[in-house]
Amino acid sequence: MEYHDSERAEELAEKTRAFVDEVVIPKEREMTGGTKADAETIAELREEAQSRDLYAPQISEEYGGMGVAFRDVLPVFEEAGRSLLAPPALRVDAPDEGNMHTLEIAGTEEQKDEWLRPLVAGEYRSAFSMTEPRQGGGADPKMVKTTAEKDGDEWVLNGHKWWITNGSTAEFFITLARTDMDSHPYEGCSLIIVPKGTDGLEVERDIPHIGDDITSMVHSEVRYDDVRVPAENLLGGEGEGFTIAQKRLAPARLTHCMRYSGMAGRALDVAKAYTSDREAFGSPVADWQGPRFDIAEAETNLHAARVMVRHAARQVTEGKQARTEISMCKFFTANVVQNAIDTALQLCGASGVGKDLPIADFYENVRQFRIVDGPDEVHKRVIARAAFEDVDESELDRLPTF
Ligand SMILES: Cc1cc2nc3c(=O)[nH]c(=O)nc-3n(C[C@H](O)[C@H](O)[C@H](O)COP(=O)(O)OP(=O)(O)OC[C@H]3O[C@@H](n4cnc5c(N)ncnc54)[C@H](O)[C@@H]3O)c2cc1C
Repeated sequence: MEYHDSERAEELAEKTRAFVDEVVIPKEREMTGGTKADAETIAELREEAQSRDLYAPQISEEYGGMGVAFRDVLPVFEEAGRSLLAPPALRVDAPDEGNMHTLEIAGTEEQKDEWLRPLVAGEYRSAFSMTEPRQGGGADPKMVKTTAEKDGDEWVLNGHKWWITNGSTAEFFITLARTDMDSHPYEGCSLIIVPKGTDGLEVERDIPHIGDDITSMVHSEVRYDDVRVPAENLLGGEGEGFTIAQKRLAPARLTHCMRYSGMAGRALDVAKAYTSDREAFGSPVADWQGPRFDIAEAETNLHAARVMVRHAARQVTEGKQARTEISMCKFFTANVVQNAIDTALQLCGASGVGKDLPIADFYENVRQFRIVDGPDEVHKRVIARAAFEDVDESELDRLPTF
């Protein structure tokens, strides 16, 4: 198996690291203690990213990106993850990055002109509207209750969604709804683009949450009450909602893993610097074996996560679904990065809790990763299903004492 990044990937990653170190982190450090990055700051960072040929690397040139192949672009996501401000600066930020990908693979030329181009350019934000409260779709998305019925040349949507990132700031919502109540949801759901301000679409509130960091991302509760949109707002084919969502989520899970690996890597870098400088009981903290072993363990797990993601990315590039491998990456990486950031925080003592260092923001932000894009348990379910597919009961016959 080949796990090396290509020359192109290494060159891009190096350029991204320089951009993050020289431009993004100094800006980030001006904003400690609850300050939020405003639109002007993000626009300035984007301009600098563009001047360094690093803007929207994952999107085709035709739509305003750089057209870098999926495997080559992953290390860029990793470097971007080292600051919470870098993904929006480079336009590799969720959920817009996943929505751009969805529009690119499933949109009509008209939809691409209307929604994708301004999204890539950073003029728009977008939302992916799938999760629902109570008896609706969540960890089990096929429980989706939102409906879209055809009425003449319009779709009429009714439903209740929540945890919709960018809900109150998005120009449009890619909404998963049931369009055929008689089919299994996997065949009876579709994606429909709903522009903000459409009658009957109400963003009720932004949900208070942990991890309200420098990027001030919002996650909103949204109601659809007889929302009418033109028939041509269907994204992809009727009944293809889950198929397209899966095509979106598979690579998006890997890009998420890479961003979070970068975040954990920076947390460990800060902790190594802090413990090398800080003395306790007569020597630098970094000289004590306990902290050294903690770092060794965190680095080893992080390395394993990065290798797993590269392996799965290779399969995706070869056109394979790689469902089990992607679930392994998502569940394993989410836990590895959470533990690494917790270790880094502990090793920095009170400074780890304070917001003079970036670790506290990382600590608050990373917890969601074990839940979004499928909770750990759902991914373990996928892995276990594959593991139990071909149980060979004759194994027992080979045990003479059984
Ligand atoms: C910060 C953030 C941003 C988000 N952004 C978006 C977004 O932009 N768009 C969107 O549509 N959604 C978004 N979500 C929602 C996210 O996708 C869901 O939270 C996730 O899919 C889980 O659904 P749920 O919260 O309804 O969990 P539930 O369905 O309520 O499940 C609760 C818990 O039950 C357990 N569980 C579930 N199934 C099993 C099982 N089979 N075996 C064992 N245990 C199980 C798990 O521990 C799970 O965490 C976001 C969530 C967060 C926290």
